Amino acid sequence: MSGPDPLTTAALPEHEVKALLREAGVPVPRGATAASAGQVAAAAEGLTPPLVLKAFGAGLVHKSDSGAVRLALGGPAEAAEAAAGMLEGLLAQGITPDGFLVEEQAAPGVELIVGAVRDPGFGPVLLAGLGGVWTEALRDTAVCLCPVSETDVRRMLASLRGARLLHGYRGRPAVDLDALVKLLLTLGGAGGLWERLELGEFELNPVIATGQGVVAVDARHIPD
Ligand code: ADP
Ligand code: MG
Repeated sequence: MSGPDPLTTAALPEHEVKALLREAGVPVPRGATAASAGQVAAAAEGLTPPLVLKAFGAGLVHKSDSGAVRLALGGPAEAAEAAAGMLEGLLAQGITPDGFLVEEQAAPGVELIVGAVRDPGFGPVLLAGLGGVWTEALRDTAVCLCPVSETDVRRMLASLRGARLLHGYRGRPAVDLDALVKLLLTLGGAGGLWERLELGEFELNPVIATGQGVVAVDARHIPD
């Protein structure tokens, strides 16, 4: 079959998915986009460091694998320098980014994956699990048919093998479970995003949960 690959060409860029999420009430980092590496410094003005720089565009699905994510940048000048280096590395791989996203870096916490996916047999399901970048290695996820209720969501979280990480572990504070439940309901609950989006797959990985709340620091929407 020929034609454009929907994964890399039809998917919304990360900042547009995040704008949708913000509008729906899901916390996302404050950020700005730049059309070129030279415009990154200006885009970073007004954001509070540490900053994160990401490139977006066709061919950038798993950004870290291509060197398209830089963390812990001290301010606009460092972000601009990182963008120049990132661009060079991407071009060397034959990837021309459409632009850059510079955003505030969330404080560390428990990283989760949250998704709304279309199960071929059951239709829309909400998925929640532990892991962030380790999701595939840990395979600790729970699923539930949409629309999910608050009871469903709390049961999903409690069913995770690593559930106790959410309740404070080895001196780490418990995460704001109510904020996490709210985020899951915003995605998969009645009237949730799963209904509004023509979704093939909608993935937030990771959502970072701390005692202060939750924030979706990466978001993808892959149309059918
Ligand atoms: P990828 O496309 O590789 O999944 P991500 O946007 O998820 O790229 O970034 C890779 C990792 O960098 C994330 O798993 C997360 O640990 C970290 N990260 C990305 N953005 C932020 C942010 N705004 N704040 C804190 N950590 C972030
Ligand atoms: Mg990610």
